[in-house]
This record gives sequence, structure tokens and C-alpha cells, in this order.
Amino acid sequence: MSDKTILLRTENLRKYFTIKSGFNTKYVQAVEDITIEIAKGETLGLVGESGCGKTTLGRTILRLYEPTKGKIYYDGQLIFDGDNIKNNPDMLPFRRKMQIIFQDPSASLDPRMTVGEIVAEALDIHGLYTQKNDRKERVAELLDMVGLNREHANRYPHEFSGGQQQRIGIARALAVEPEFIVCDEPISALDVSIQAQIVNMLEDMQDKLGLTYLFIAHDLSVVKHISDRIGVMYLGNMVELVESNELYRNPLHPYTKTLLSAVPVPDPEVNRKSQRIMLEGEIPSAIDPPSGCRFHTRCPYVMDICKKEAPVFKEVEDGHYVACHIVS
Ligand code: SF4
Repeated sequence: MSDKTILLRTENLRKYFTIKSGFNTKYVQAVEDITIEIAKGETLGLVGESGCGKTTLGRTILRLYEPTKGKIYYDGQLIFDGDNIKNNPDMLPFRRKMQIIFQDPSASLDPRMTVGEIVAEALDIHGLYTQKNDRKERVAELLDMVGLNREHANRYPHEFSGGQQQRIGIARALAVEPEFIVCDEPISALDVSIQAQIVNMLEDMQDKLGLTYLFIAHDLSVVKHISDRIGVMYLGNMVELVESNELYRNPLHPYTKTLLSAVPVPDPEVNRKSQRIMLEGEIPSAIDPPSGCRFHTRCPYVMDICKKEAPVFKEVEDGHYVACHIVS
């Protein structure tokens, strides 16, 4: 982390999706009252099983999904206030500073546009590089930065491999000189052999350009590598958040322990001796989540109180936040 100036802060951020079926209205409680801070230059990793709300949280922070409740501050400015929705600012000026890299590059690149058009689209939206030659030069510079070359600007996305397509997605995100990027599982759709290259490139970009990342992944070994701190989500809740090495050294939440027990260790001897904790059952539905602690239906340590009262997400050690009744 380069400094401790807070770039992004959420307060009790909530996102519910409405589902209407006949006369019934139900809500998918995808993100539930999440309060986090991300410092300038930091990478905050976000992990959890699929359906835990990590992608929804990333998109809600960018207001690609309009939040249901709570507050979002960007660089000290309130960019969403659930108590005063009418006065929320236009996001266009912030979109330049806050970008996203999507999980599946083949689905996120328009097949009818050339690579040059894709990368330049954001420049046009924000009225940057209005002279044709400057714009062309900027696109070439961005393609260089991500390890492609300027001739690629005239080709179409389907002519590239998955790794190259993700490089195009990264060039598009970098085009408007953002400060903050939500990396939404940017390597999960790629071959394992390509994943490290993309992660290394994102780290290089961070060093060169002073970027701040929210890095979403389901693979704990990847987030460990890239993150300064890691947040663990379960069914819309943040259940643990701490500095990256500390999460691996001293996990406190029962769900985090389960996730970590499933991560293979390079030493086969250690691997053989370490016990994998198996979770019973599937992740419950976010439409009708369990009462109290949402993890209680699968937790090996469940107590009566867990079924009735939701544990508070609190700092239990210096910089170590956990939501669990048995951790204090
Ligand atoms: Fe398990 Fe209870 Fe802690 Fe939830 S609050 S994780 S059910 S011990």
C-alpha cells in the first residue's frame, strides 16, 4: 500500500434485486450492509463462492448497479447517498476515474468493432483526444502498454486468443487514465498458463500508474499473490477482512478456515497432513437467507445464538475484522 489516504469508502452498502412473479415481489439480497475502505494504491482482494455477492458489490460500488441503500464516497466525495437519492451526482465524471475489467473478455468486447474502436470508445465518451491523429497515437500507446502492437488496432476481437482479448479489455479500462479499477475475476476465464502473465501485467500497471484495485477472485492463491488485504464474503455479507498474509496465518472466521483448507499447498507432505474442512450443503438462497448468521446452516461451530442474532462485523485485532459470535 503506497499511503493510507482513503480513495474509496462504502458505508452499509446494500444491493437488493427485485423479482416480480405475478402479485408477489421478492428480493435477492445480494449485498448486505457492507462497510469497507480502500486506500490509494492498495489492492483489496475479494473472495467467496460464486453467488456470494462479490461481483455485485464491485458493480454496485461503480454504480453500474444502482445501490439500494448506504453511502459511497470516492476520494472524499459522496457519489451515492441512499438517504438523499435525488441529489446523487451524475457518474460521468467519476466513470473516467473508476473503471472495470470484466471476467470474460470474449463476451465483453463488441465483435463488430475493431480493437482500435473498442479502446477509443471511452476516449470519445469523455471527449478526450479529439484530434484524429492524437487519438490514433493514444490507442497505439495503450496497445503497446498491454503487450499488443499498433497494427492490432485494425483487427477484430475474434482474431485474438483469450489472453490477448483480456489485454484489449485492460487497454480499454486504462484508456481514460483511471485511478481505481474493479478487476472482476479478470483471469478466471483464461488458461492457467496465461493467468500469471495477466496478473503480473496488472501489478506492473499498478506500480507505473499508481492504480488502486478491487480484485475479485474465487481462487485464493491468486488473491494472496496480488492483494494487500483480503475480504471474504458469504451470502452477501463480509465475514472477515484483514491484511493478506495475516488471513493465511491466522484465519478467524469458520468460513474463511474452510476456504483456506481447500487451497492446495505446494509441499505434498504438508498437503497430505493438512485436513480439508468439508462444508455441508449448498450455499443457501439469497432470496430467503438464513436468520441470524447467514452461515449458520453450514457452520461446524453453530450455537443457538447464531440462529437468532446476526454477528456484528467488528475489529477483533488490529486491522482484523470478523463477523462471528465465537470470535471476540
Ligand atoms: Fe458459525 Fe455462529 Fe460464527 Fe456464524 S456466528 S460463523 S454460525 S459460530
